[in-house]
Amino acid sequence: MKIDFSQFAFANRAFSEKPMTFCEPAHREMLASLIELVALETASHKALEQWQAAQLRNLLFHVSQRSAFWRRRLPAKKNVRDLSLSSLPVLTRADVIAQVQSEGPLILRTDPLTTSKSSTSGSSGTPVEFFVSDMNRRYNTARSLAQHFIEGRPLSLNRTKVKSGFIENKNGFTVAKDPSWTAGLDSFFKVGKGKYIEYAYPNIPKLLEELTRDPIGYLVTIPHFIEFVIQYIEPADLKRAGADYWLCLGGSPDEQIRQKFADVGIIVRASYSSEEVGPIGHECPMNPGHYHLAASNVIVELDKSEGIIIDGKLMGRVLITHLHSYATPFIRYDIGDLAQLKDSCPCGHNGPVLSDIRGRSKLLLKHPDGHLIPFYVRAGKFIELVKLSGYRIRQTDLRTIVVEIERPDPLTSETIEALKNMVVAHSGPGFDIEVLHVEKIDWGKNTKQLGFKNEILS
Ligand SMILES: [Zn+2]
Repeated sequence: MKIDFSQFAFANRAFSEKPMTFCEPAHREMLASLIELVALETASHKALEQWQAAQLRNLLFHVSQRSAFWRRRLPAKKNVRDLSLSSLPVLTRADVIAQVQSEGPLILRTDPLTTSKSSTSGSSGTPVEFFVSDMNRRYNTARSLAQHFIEGRPLSLNRTKVKSGFIENKNGFTVAKDPSWTAGLDSFFKVGKGKYIEYAYPNIPKLLEELTRDPIGYLVTIPHFIEFVIQYIEPADLKRAGADYWLCLGGSPDEQIRQKFADVGIIVRASYSSEEVGPIGHECPMNPGHYHLAASNVIVELDKSEGIIIDGKLMGRVLITHLHSYATPFIRYDIGDLAQLKDSCPCGHNGPVLSDIRGRSKLLLKHPDGHLIPFYVRAGKFIELVKLSGYRIRQTDLRTIVVEIERPDPLTSETIEALKNMVVAHSGPGFDIEVLHVEKIDWGKNTKQLGFKNEILS
């Protein structure tokens, strides 16, 4: 075992030139955070468990002091610090909404932390609003950077982040650039440039031109965007434009796309996170689809009481306890996904691992007789049938599937029929399929722009 930064490129004037000092104070804080986080994430089982148990006790004590809502939920015991996690009830979205509306943030103005309001990206219904502290923001930045150290990924590559937004200009996208993409260490290590593209209804040739203009380095985006892009350009074109990694957010990469990227030497790494709690897991470099849990942030449990079987595997509901959720507590929070949970990873990582993650509300269709089926229609299926700039499928009630097609011109009756048939081929019979033409899909605050949303599963 050695701690060694020799794989990382240093800035020429990385170190302090003052007497009896090594690093500049500005770098010291981030370096210390990184070392702390890497230590925790790679610590022995016992040491980590001990730390998590202590953090949980701290959080339970905090909520018992600050929240009537939480006092009602906690089982009666003399000392709240003796409570076990499994003795607490599951926290639903409705519970979070109720707590936030009645009590606001549980960090007070007199506390040394500040809070700000945030919300989930649910595409319909009521997004969950909640509060986060500035500690949560600092942690998320440091933990994201720590993953580069854990995996030995160079900081010198550029980072190109592409996300959907609310863009009204002529090209349907905006570009912002940064001389460096890391906060806190940009004059310590040699760090690549940052580029942020936000798009809504893009002029596709212009968007692709912008995407490939500068060396891409890390391409950070959702599966939906990659599926969209590779209808127009080859993975090899992305590689030629300097894409070395696709850091996949908000879902699992399609296996075929993963293979195509591997064939041209683009490494794919997914991460599992949520707006509410931040990072939950990072994909194993050796076993795609297996996520090493972000143990410095969350405790994950699996509730198998529903007994949902997908592809022959018994899936459980993912319950997240966010150990730093002091502003709005997330304790045994049902995040709406199904998965499998194991104690260790086939790669040898000696910590809990989630696999087979399925968005319960995103990727399951409920048939009129009540059974659930995995449901996913690839973007390519739509593009074969109709010229479009976006689409969304929603199950709005037990018998109705609504398909929205975003494009300037109305749909012909033949196209509507073809789209209906294509959706039925995925859903099976028993549904009324409504195909709607829209000039712009109203994604609300849904930054993930999920191609399918089940509105009857919470
Ligand atoms: Zn692993």
